[in-house]
Amino acid sequence: MKPADFTLSAGPTMCSSKTLAALGSPIVYHYDPAFIEAYRRTEQKVREVFRTKGDIVLMQGEAVLGLEAAGRAVVRPGMACLNLSSGVFGKGYGDWLRAWGATVHEIEVPFNEAVDPAQVERVLDEHPEIEVLAVVHSETPSGTLNPVAEIGPIAKRHGVVTIVDCVSSLGGMPFEPDTWQLDICVAGAQKCLAGPPGITMMSVSQDAWDLIAKNPAAPRYSFLSLLDWKIQWLDGGKFPFTPSVADVHGLEACCTEVLEEGLENSFARHARAARACREGVKAMGLSLWPRSEDIMSTCTTAVALPEGLTDLQVRAHVRERYGVMISGGQGAGNLVRIGHMGVTANTMYPVVGVAALGRALADLGVAVAIGDGVEAALAVLSEA
Ligand SMILES: *Cc1c(COP(=O)(O)O)cnc(C)c1O
Repeated sequence: MKPADFTLSAGPTMCSSKTLAALGSPIVYHYDPAFIEAYRRTEQKVREVFRTKGDIVLMQGEAVLGLEAAGRAVVRPGMACLNLSSGVFGKGYGDWLRAWGATVHEIEVPFNEAVDPAQVERVLDEHPEIEVLAVVHSETPSGTLNPVAEIGPIAKRHGVVTIVDCVSSLGGMPFEPDTWQLDICVAGAQKCLAGPPGITMMSVSQDAWDLIAKNPAAPRYSFLSLLDWKIQWLDGGKFPFTPSVADVHGLEACCTEVLEEGLENSFARHARAARACREGVKAMGLSLWPRSEDIMSTCTTAVALPEGLTDLQVRAHVRERYGVMISGGQGAGNLVRIGHMGVTANTMYPVVGVAALGRALADLGVAVAIGDGVEAALAVLSEA
């Protein structure tokens, strides 16, 4: 089977030709001075994308590796943690925290809503023993955004170290670890940066390193060890093991592109693609999945499916008949998602997504106003 003509998924998403070319660069020895130079350049570019003065750690695996490594580094058995759950990834982090032996307090909201910072403040006031807070910025499976800009300073005032999943927001929407006082932020390259899905980038604050230093359970000499990267690479200039050479080249290329474009321009581009997609979906007569537009993430549009249809059915039809790959809700609800991240947050991609979804639903017997949807999406894209 050939790959989809349009990968409008919620990540991994399409890579630019420059990034694809970089992924095909020669594989070199990891202590070749040329590779060390490329690695350091890549770290610097990732630092600029994160807009942080803190440490940058690249871990050689998909973003889930970074999310697990961050938690294992800070969490001791018996440690009181607050987990914010507004979707599949947030809920999953709570399960991890419990598996690592933490005492978990949880704020849970339905998967089409966002967490209220006032409630975070209340729980932290009531439980001064809490040391760590975990939150997902952009809950990709729900297409929603948590107010991390407000939650960060609340946690910091309570002396709480934050672990933030910004996998699908970095590079595509405002994200400011330093200004928002966030401690460990974990991103992936395969979402808004339109890079390869084999590497995870993390920003780590001094407060996070201080808490890790007090944790005898923090992994060492392990693929999961954040400390190995700190001690051996950041402080010692030796890799704990061979980095994923091709992925590092790919990551450098996609960071270069977004920095040359300008982060603010990239944010605006993602916001516009999201607006085009949302307006298109609504004009077709369909419903957006999140409770309200003010909590929507701009990397993907989650569309509630009409009664009687499943996401598998709809996605298979869109893929087979129209060559377009879209995503399901990964268990968040009966929904499909049109991604607009990186390359696909450009030009006509949102129109393709809207039209393909609309026509597929019509084929499956739903009354949808496809023309109205396409016109509404185009109206947004045609704004000067
Ligand atoms: C993509 C993504 C990850 C990485 O998880 P995968 O299931 O491996 O794709 C983690 N968190 C969020 C919010 C993501 O969007």
